[in-house]
Amino acid sequence: MIFIIFGPPGVGKGTQAAKISQKYNFLHVSTGDILRASVKEGTELGKLAKSYMDKGELVPDNVIIGIIRERISDKDSKKGFLFDGFPRTIEQAEALDNMLSKEGQKIDSVISIELSDEEIVKRISGRRVCEKCGSMYHIIYDPPTNMGYCNKCGGGLYQRDDDSEDVIRTRLEVYRRQTEPIKKFYKRGGILKRIDGLGTIDDVFSRIEKVLKGIG
Ligand code: AMP
Repeated sequence: MIFIIFGPPGVGKGTQAAKISQKYNFLHVSTGDILRASVKEGTELGKLAKSYMDKGELVPDNVIIGIIRERISDKDSKKGFLFDGFPRTIEQAEALDNMLSKEGQKIDSVISIELSDEEIVKRISGRRVCEKCGSMYHIIYDPPTNMGYCNKCGGGLYQRDDDSEDVIRTRLEVYRRQTEPIKKFYKRGGILKRIDGLGTIDDVFSRIEKVLKGIG
C-alpha cells in the first residue's frame, strides 16, 4: 500500500503519519525529517537544505527526488509506504509516479488534511519538538506532562527555526502557490480524499482510518 498524507505545513501531517505508520506497520517517509537529520549531522545535503528551510522555501526538486529514489529502492519488510511532506511540487509528483511505475507500483490514496490559514498559524506557533526523539507537542492543544520536556524520552523541547510567525507565512504562501496545485493532479487520477483537519489528534486520526479502511 502506498499513501500520501497531504496538506499545508502545521496541519498535523507528521503527527498523523507517525500514528498511522506505527499502527499499520508502514514505512513513514518524511522528507522534512530526513532533511532535518542531515542539517543536524552537518552533511553537505544538510548545509544546502538549511539555506532553503530557514527561509521557508522549498529545497530543489532534484535533491528531494534523489532522496526519495534512495528510500524507495531501500527494500523494507514494512507493509507499505506513507509519504509525508512529499511530493510538494508537480515535478516531484510526476517523478514519484515514474519511479513507482518502474517497480509496477502506484499510489493507492492521497489523504488531504484541510485547514484554514488562521488555524494553521495558531497551531504552528505553539508547536514544540523533542530534540532527541522528534516527538511533537503543542503548548496548548497537546502539552507535555513536564513543560519543556518530552514525555517519551525526557529530551528537551524546542521550537523549529522555521516555525516562527514570519517564516510560517512564507511557508503557507509557498504551499498555496507550489504545492496545492498537486491536488488537481491527484483528483484527475481519482485518488484524492479530503478530510477536515479541525478537532483533536484522535478526531483527525479516526477520519484518516475511515479512508484507509475504505481502501484496504
Ligand atoms: P516539513 O517538516 O515537511 O514541514 O518540511 C520542512 C521544510 O523542509 C520545508 O519548509 C522545505 O524547506 C523542506 N522540504 C521538506 N520536504 C520537501 C519537499 N518535498 N520538497 C521541497 N522541500 C521540502
